[in-house]
Amino acid sequence: MATIRFKALEDAVNRKPLFHQKPSNRISEFYGQNVFSAKAMREYLTDEAMEIVTDAMENGTRIDRKIADQVASAMKEWAISRGATHYTHWFQPLTGSTAEKHDSFAKPASDGTAIEKFEGTMLIQQEPDASSFPSGGIRNTFEARGYTLWDPSSPAFVLGNTLCIPTIFISYTGFSLDYKMPLLKALTAVDSAATSVCQYFDKNVKKVHATLGWEQEYFLVDRALYEARPDLALTGRALFGHNPAKGQQLDDHYFGIIPRRAMEFMKHFETECHILGIPVTTRHNEVAPNQFEVAPMFEETNLANDHNLLLMDILERVGREHNFKVLLHEKPFEGLNGSGKHNNWALATDTGVNLLKPGKNPKSNLQFLTFFINTLKAVHVHADILRAAIATAGNDHRLGANEAPPAIMSAFIGTQLSGLLSAIEKNVKAGTMTPEDKTELKLEIGRIPQILLDNTDRNRTSPFAFTGNKFEFRAVGSSANCASSMVVLNTIVANQLNEFKKAVDKRIKSGIKKDEAILKELQKLIKESKSIIFEGDGYSDDWVKEAKKRGLSNFRTTPEALAVWKKKEVHELFESLNVLSAPEIESRLEVALEDYVLRRQIEARVCGDIAQNHIIPTAINYQNRLITNVKGMYEVFPTTTAKKASSMQSELILKISDHMNGIKENVDKLLEQRRKVDSLGSLEKRAKMYADVLKPLTDVIREHSDSLEMLIDDELWPMPKLRELLFTR
Ligand code: ADP
Ligand code: MG
Repeated sequence: MATIRFKALEDAVNRKPLFHQKPSNRISEFYGQNVFSAKAMREYLTDEAMEIVTDAMENGTRIDRKIADQVASAMKEWAISRGATHYTHWFQPLTGSTAEKHDSFAKPASDGTAIEKFEGTMLIQQEPDASSFPSGGIRNTFEARGYTLWDPSSPAFVLGNTLCIPTIFISYTGFSLDYKMPLLKALTAVDSAATSVCQYFDKNVKKVHATLGWEQEYFLVDRALYEARPDLALTGRALFGHNPAKGQQLDDHYFGIIPRRAMEFMKHFETECHILGIPVTTRHNEVAPNQFEVAPMFEETNLANDHNLLLMDILERVGREHNFKVLLHEKPFEGLNGSGKHNNWALATDTGVNLLKPGKNPKSNLQFLTFFINTLKAVHVHADILRAAIATAGNDHRLGANEAPPAIMSAFIGTQLSGLLSAIEKNVKAGTMTPEDKTELKLEIGRIPQILLDNTDRNRTSPFAFTGNKFEFRAVGSSANCASSMVVLNTIVANQLNEFKKAVDKRIKSGIKKDEAILKELQKLIKESKSIIFEGDGYSDDWVKEAKKRGLSNFRTTPEALAVWKKKEVHELFESLNVLSAPEIESRLEVALEDYVLRRQIEARVCGDIAQNHIIPTAINYQNRLITNVKGMYEVFPTTTAKKASSMQSELILKISDHMNGIKENVDKLLEQRRKVDSLGSLEKRAKMYADVLKPLTDVIREHSDSLEMLIDDELWPMPKLRELLFTR
């Protein structure tokens, strides 16, 4: 493989950036210049239009036709000034990536010339020919129409030569076919619930935003080597490959010096991000060789999610220019850390307060505790939905794979906060509390900021960890659309806050003072949700046993995890908050199961193909060489000498045969089982069979192949090895 590799390296070093040249060292000079931001709008819109659009962006109010025309025209002029020739409605179908269909601004005029045109109707609504996007049966073919509708709360931007307008994607009958629409609805639900609970503490709060700061992990591999690996190219992960002798055991990559070629790539994509107003700030090496992370400043969730999707797109485009393939798969390499996308989440008021940050006095700390404990309670009651939100074929390889959070949902809050919750649980007395009781508790609560300062304990093994002023949901997969988990998290928290409000109001009505009513309700919630809190090692086997004792679920595979979406109470929960209707949930379940089946099917086919077409022929080749060698020994030497001199070769010949037989046997089984799966009617049964029967067969095939890799002449091996993929700079 050496020649390809060195050519790629050479290309990378001599490369000239094509996508965008770095405009200046001062990021502020070009930051956001391709975003139709408030600043750009002010330049191009009348004051009246500006006011209406701002209101629509902040409060979701409607924009009438006349203003829409004005905005469209302004957007077009601005976009052309930024180099755009086309426009597209940019949306998030359930395929997991983003979709776009470009139309030119230029329309032919009757006199043989052309004119650039972009009207309000084109801005607000489009009908992409979308019949091939997954809809889980919602869109019958006779009404295959899907519409994209402008989301003014996320600003339009110019990418390359195209004006991109963030939109939601719905069916003819109004069902949501994307990730954005339920996300916007979940954010509305949590806004309304949190704002109403905030009234206990501060009447000035009129709006609460959920904030999201994602941390994106990825692997970089040389593009030429990647293309020489059919498994990576077709499934995103190495289905074969012996672990290199040196992997991540020395921990020498984590936070280490970023290799020069990777650094050039990072600087380049960060510039592209900054031009698009994506506030990326952090870059570092991750634990595994060639694994890296990028993280931005957190933002309002809808915008943060659009930015993450855009970033994933930019990583791929810029990667190409540097002859890299950016792997966003959750587990590209067995035996090395997988990649996640930590979702840091908090709630921020329009008065500038982070509701998950302990305050300066007992009152604000009581507010903090309210949101903190209600979040724990929500995760406790609905852990299974949260688990389902991160369930994908890719993430199954990673969750619980000794470096990633396990499939068991639990929360880490640190020993100090744990202690405080126990204190509240014990000290809030039944009946009316005495002033002394209250003073004591207030003192305790007042001490939170200090105790958090000492809370340097950073448990990385927990899927849902409190990290001082936010929760970090770490089980999210690196290729996921964050909306999947953000829809669930914000919905379950909204529901819990609504329940809390009702319960506290009831206590107040019965004559208890507000603070005491809140404390009593919090005490009840602590008692009920204690079992979700776990401070120990989430990777240990003991935790699996302990979690079972506590009654926590441990869904190891996607088909098992997804089943929660069939529950009536889950439908009711999402319907009551107007986030997803029952048919929408059912259709999403179908799309998710189908995605799982298709991905496992592709993996199974690629595994069978490579084993038969690449591995076995190579093994036979090498075996023939050995046979010739053995035969030669007998020609050259007397029998006893020849026997002795060729014993190692003879043994090897037989070992190779054993592994080839192992491969053949299991590839045959794989074929037979695949035929069986295809005959199963229900998608659910098919998914389950892929998880329980077919996936394990591919693992056995891999074991045999990886053993052969160790026996066969390195020169003959038909694909780049993991050592080459992971240590090529
Ligand atoms: P880590 O040690 O996990 O890398 P950091 O403090 O660097 O933690 O933050 C990680 C991410 O959390 C960043 O993307 C950051 O913007 C985000 N973050 C910080 N505060 C909040 C918040 N209030 N809401 C949401 N995300 C936040
Ligand atoms: Mg983190």
